Amino acid sequence: MKSQARIVIVGGGIMGVALLYHLAEEGCSDVLLIEKGELTSGSTWHAAGQCPSLVGNYNLAKIHNYSNWLYPRLEELTGQYVSWHASGGIRLALTQMDIDWFRFMKGIADNVGFRMEIIDVEKIKQINPFMNTDGVLAGAWTLDDGHADPSGLTNAMARGATNMGASIERHNRVTDIKALPSGEWQVITEKGNVVAETVVNAAGCYARRVAQMVGKDLPIVNMEHHYIITGPVQEFVDRDEEIPVIRDPRASSYLRQEQKSGLVGIYEHVDMTEAWAPNGFPPWDSDSELFPDNLERLLPWLGHAMERMSIFEDAGIKRIVNGAIAHSSDGSPLLGPVAGLNNFWLCCGSSFGIAQGAGCGKYLAQWMLYGDSEINMTAFDPRRFGAYAGYNYMKSKGFQDYRLTYFTPLPGEELPAGRTRRLSPLHEKLKAQGCVHTETFGWERPKWFSLDGREEDYSYRRNNVFAVVRNECLAVHERVGILDLTGFAKYDVSGADAESYLNRLCANRMPAKSGGIVLAHILSDGGRIGAEMTITRLADDQFYVLSAAGAEMRDLDYLTQGMTADENVDIANVTDERGVLVLAGPRSREVLAKVTKEKLDNASFRWLSGKEIQVAGLPTRALRVNYVGELGWELHAPMQDMDAIYDALWQAGEEFGIANFGLYAVNSLRIEKAYRGWGAELTNEVTMLDADMERFLKLDKDEFVGKDATLLQQETERTFQLVYFEIEAVDSDVRGSEPIFVGNDCVGVTTSGGYGHRVQKSLGFGYVDPTNSEPGTELAIDLLGERCRATVLKDPVYDPGNERLRA
Ligand SMILES: Cc1cc2nc3c(=O)[nH]c(=O)nc-3n(C[C@H](O)[C@H](O)[C@H](O)COP(=O)(O)OP(=O)(O)OC[C@H]3O[C@@H](n4cnc5c(N)ncnc54)[C@H](O)[C@@H]3O)c2cc1C
Repeated sequence: MKSQARIVIVGGGIMGVALLYHLAEEGCSDVLLIEKGELTSGSTWHAAGQCPSLVGNYNLAKIHNYSNWLYPRLEELTGQYVSWHASGGIRLALTQMDIDWFRFMKGIADNVGFRMEIIDVEKIKQINPFMNTDGVLAGAWTLDDGHADPSGLTNAMARGATNMGASIERHNRVTDIKALPSGEWQVITEKGNVVAETVVNAAGCYARRVAQMVGKDLPIVNMEHHYIITGPVQEFVDRDEEIPVIRDPRASSYLRQEQKSGLVGIYEHVDMTEAWAPNGFPPWDSDSELFPDNLERLLPWLGHAMERMSIFEDAGIKRIVNGAIAHSSDGSPLLGPVAGLNNFWLCCGSSFGIAQGAGCGKYLAQWMLYGDSEINMTAFDPRRFGAYAGYNYMKSKGFQDYRLTYFTPLPGEELPAGRTRRLSPLHEKLKAQGCVHTETFGWERPKWFSLDGREEDYSYRRNNVFAVVRNECLAVHERVGILDLTGFAKYDVSGADAESYLNRLCANRMPAKSGGIVLAHILSDGGRIGAEMTITRLADDQFYVLSAAGAEMRDLDYLTQGMTADENVDIANVTDERGVLVLAGPRSREVLAKVTKEKLDNASFRWLSGKEIQVAGLPTRALRVNYVGELGWELHAPMQDMDAIYDALWQAGEEFGIANFGLYAVNSLRIEKAYRGWGAELTNEVTMLDADMERFLKLDKDEFVGKDATLLQQETERTFQLVYFEIEAVDSDVRGSEPIFVGNDCVGVTTSGGYGHRVQKSLGFGYVDPTNSEPGTELAIDLLGERCRATVLKDPVYDPGNERLRA
């Protein structure tokens, strides 16, 4: 075995091998994959091998689509048989909501490039004459899906990788991993040690055990999952064609043809137990293991499945497979760096590893080698989870994710598992006022306020909360609103070199004077956007840094890992120490004036400045900045003072008609101001130039990370450009991932949108090819299957001159 490698991958299932293949394909062949048994001997060998295209997330759909592109070509590329069956698939719609989801997904299909048709029952019966279509309203027919032999796929990629110079070591367990003083890793195995610059944990159901070697835990739970194979089905014996894979929400099952037999896999909705309970840590000696079956647990769903395809029932059960399957807490794979470690990556947590393996390998390889992937990786970055995601959280979320496999995802739906991890001190008080919370990074954050006890009717279309949100927006616009934004990530950055360090790290220039506030971005070496932060200079050597709630761990890594050994800078994550209240609206100055002695007029407290003041006699960092486009302040106070400050503001605001507002209203208010969102408009796929954010770039600075790439991009032809548009929508608004057309050509994709209640317009953002980005350009956007006219706008539709903010 090699004693040195640039990259060591731990685990030879489809995920690890696909990464090996794609690293080698990108020219990085100094990679060693170590597998404790035979390749695929974890979860991969026994998988049913289906590769669907239809998944509820635009970037995950790109991952699936790439796999479905590669797998049929693998045999030709590597000489290894993979048994690709281009069967296609049909997901059944049993409700109108399912059909709306299909319409939304059809937009994603058009954008990503997989073939999908929404078909009626007659067509379903033509394609699959054996199916009982009772209760079926329509089908989503995805023509590029297939299924393959998972071992064949893995071995083909392994062969391809070794042909390109990568190495594989089988039957050798990694027993420990140690950080060396050089910054490298020592990977200790049964057959000797390897020193590596970078380690990737691709250990499937063992990923938590491997993470323990470096003192970390991962939000993964290992479940049991069954499929059954029937005896030969005469109807299949009698025909050459293969039926598409059926996915039936009622049976919570996939049903397909396996040679001339039937195959049914069930995602049962029962209280789950972990495979390898009690701690979820599989024993090391498990190898190609299957568990005893538990048919009783599956019976209700198996019954529904047999009703759907009664020819399966007649064929009887020949074999039952019950194997281990890993589920992450939100159902998406864990692809990316581990928080707090240098050069330690994850490629695990996939519960659809066959369908996702190749795509995960490709885009993770890009990220590892070039600093960015060509797709938005925010939803897969392992740092989307923090310390709040403990064992009980990962279990209840993972079990929930398993049960929901065939549920239609509903916009805005609040799911019960793993809730109330991180609470603002105002949680109960706001709940008593009707607050409906939503979760971000463990934080429960106000979404909207139900003043009459109504519950949200989840829908892809405008629903019964639309009018409530309008009232919240109008309160902020006409009077004064208050919002608990405690979940913001917050850091104190201090030390003699704090200013020069932040100037080197960020594309914007730090404020010259104490009290100044800037919006600053951290770019990759390639000039793409990694982080967005609001930075306030509190003193010569002290900065208060704020970023998105969901970016707390990522941005901490950016701040701590960008530093050189000789820079004197302290970074403290103070997220849990301070709460945040937003007070915004034309009467906000009058309200705040009643509870502070500080002068609040423009000369004394200008827009985009901050200082320590007393609010209700309590020390508070007050920042005159907000994301909703009205006169207002953000008040950052120690957690223990939040309750008293909220009460004082509420009392002071009553005479002005103060109202609570939530994040639904924030989205409406910010889209009218054309404020971009991190993770939607600002992602690792785009540069500041693409995102039309030049004013936050200070190219006259001597250096900042990504400057050279930005200068280079100024000289080269652009591939896409952010546009802000108004759309003639009817009963639904842009939510992101909808295709943008000019004529019949798909020229781009939306990133986010919403209805602007102050201006009464439906608005959105999207990326298009630059020739279609000029203000006034007419675009067409598909909203739930309806083609709607849209017009590119030059300026924010609300207060483009920021008069309200400066008022
Ligand atoms: C019944 C069933 C049906 C399924 N059907 C499908 C399907 O149709 N489509 C689909 O997409 N997915 C399906 N899946 C899920 C799929 O099997 C998994 O998502 C996928 O195999 C995960 O691949 P992996 O590489 O992450 O993990 P694994 O295949 O488990 O690979 C991890 C490897 O790491 C090795 N390893 C662990 N620790 C160490 C160590 N310390 N040193 C060295 N090696 C180590 C293990 O031996 C193992 O080989 C199914 C799962 C089940 C249970």
